[in-house]
Amino acid sequence: MTTATAEIRALTAAAFRTPEKFTEFCRNGGKPLGGIVDGEQIAGSMNATFQTIDPGSQEVLATVCEMGEAEVARAVSAAQRAFHGDGGSSWRNADVEERIELVNRLVELCERDRDVLLACEIRDGGKVSELAEGDFTQIRACAEYFIGVARQIAMGDGPSLPVGNGVRGFTYREPWGVVAGIIPWNYPIVLTSWFMFPALLSGNTILIKPAEDTPLSALYIGKLAQEAGFPPGVINVLPGRGEITGQCIAEHPGVRFISFTGSPGVGQAILRTCDRHGTRMKREMGGNGSAIVLGDADPAVVARLIGRYTNQHFGQTCCTIHRIFVDRKIADDFTDAQTEFFKGLKIGYQADAGTQLGAVINPTQRRRILQAQQETVARGGRAILTGGEATVAGKNGFYIKPALYRTEPGLNINPQEVFHTYATICPVSSADEALQLANSSPYGLGASVWTKDVEKGIALARQFRDGTAQVNCHNSIAYGLPYGGQGISGGPGGGVNCEETFLDYTQVKAVYVADYPG
Ligand code: NAD
Repeated sequence: MTTATAEIRALTAAAFRTPEKFTEFCRNGGKPLGGIVDGEQIAGSMNATFQTIDPGSQEVLATVCEMGEAEVARAVSAAQRAFHGDGGSSWRNADVEERIELVNRLVELCERDRDVLLACEIRDGGKVSELAEGDFTQIRACAEYFIGVARQIAMGDGPSLPVGNGVRGFTYREPWGVVAGIIPWNYPIVLTSWFMFPALLSGNTILIKPAEDTPLSALYIGKLAQEAGFPPGVINVLPGRGEITGQCIAEHPGVRFISFTGSPGVGQAILRTCDRHGTRMKREMGGNGSAIVLGDADPAVVARLIGRYTNQHFGQTCCTIHRIFVDRKIADDFTDAQTEFFKGLKIGYQADAGTQLGAVINPTQRRRILQAQQETVARGGRAILTGGEATVAGKNGFYIKPALYRTEPGLNINPQEVFHTYATICPVSSADEALQLANSSPYGLGASVWTKDVEKGIALARQFRDGTAQVNCHNSIAYGLPYGGQGISGGPGGGVNCEETFLDYTQVKAVYVADYPG
């Protein structure tokens, strides 16, 4: 590795000015922002609203209507009508090129209003611009990838097989019908795209349930979908709390398939609900990412790279590295370099130039993270950086300092996803010991090995019990390769961003045809 250490820095904010169009959208003519159902903005019949805030300042950005049982039922009916056609054309039978044209138009409109969507990510989601800008590019990248897949995958009848005397059989592949995407708050634009494009292009009509902390980007995308000309009912957006709106979606038997991204506990609960009435589900859930650093690695370089990945979106990334296993020979040098990197992170408001570590999303997360920091010490971790609350002058946000600990094999000091710039460093005597410790977690989302010996790295990477195994990189995602979890981090389903994802949004039946008797 020849990278100069100084060049390896955390993702950093440029100064961001909120565009007037975003403010106008949030103001919504003085009314709370409604959900989008059947091509219209609707208020909730429960008359319940909630405020969405900027986590770095607690400024209220918008008041949003919560969608309840009646709105979910209305959205499912609208999506069913759009899917089957109400005496007219149906989304189900629309030519794939017709769907592609609308998806392309939506992507163009997102690009026209890039600054509004960036404001959603930066102001509502608390991201630094460098990350938000990268996330924004995923709208087009994801749409283009799944457009390619949609053109290749044959829907409808498969080849016919003779299956007996006078009997033939074939498969019939079709979209599910009404499918719902339940989305977390940490990557709203990316995860809405990852759900929406394959689901729509395979012929389903959709309900998008954004997280209550970050409803704005999905609502804005829903508005753009209306402008793009999607038929009413094809794309519906249902903001609200998980236990209200999300639960109503999970309980509605008209929803045939749910794509859930979020925490394992919630995913497990929704799966049980869905199972009661036969709704199928795919789940992409949390992780407790690990990195193994072999003795031949340069500790100064690798500690900074790992620091960068650990701090991506301030550790609020599903595959974030929380557990580091380092060859004992270089563990002290590695710890010093990692400490220096963490200490150097500029804590600040996410829309101010230079910020590298902004506020976490909400007060509950802040409490959970601070508690996890204390528990790490109580379980025997030696704090190198103690974490704790941070302050940013003039900003009343949810700020926390980075935390770093030393541990020893056998101490289970960080059993759960912490979701902040938090890591434990455990010195190990061999690669096998590191692998065994890395694989001892019930999570299994992402792991990496860091070494100059790439072949050795690949051999170790193959043995990770994780959906994504990496050599000298982390937080890796590419269209065409599955991104999914093993253990409690994911499944069933083929992960996201690959052909299997597209197939997840379809079902196959066998059709048998016998000659008429006699
Ligand atoms: P969460 O599980 O609390 O919520 C996720 C979504 O589920 C939200 O929209 C929420 O409103 C909804 N929800 C909550 N309770 C519900 C219920 N009873 N019924 C239906 N819906 C309900 O997760 P979060 O805190 O928003 O997001 C962070 C989690 O997501 C972390 O664990 C993170 O690792 C994970 N995540 C995973 C991936 C991945 O690709 N594997 C990507 C991003 C985030």
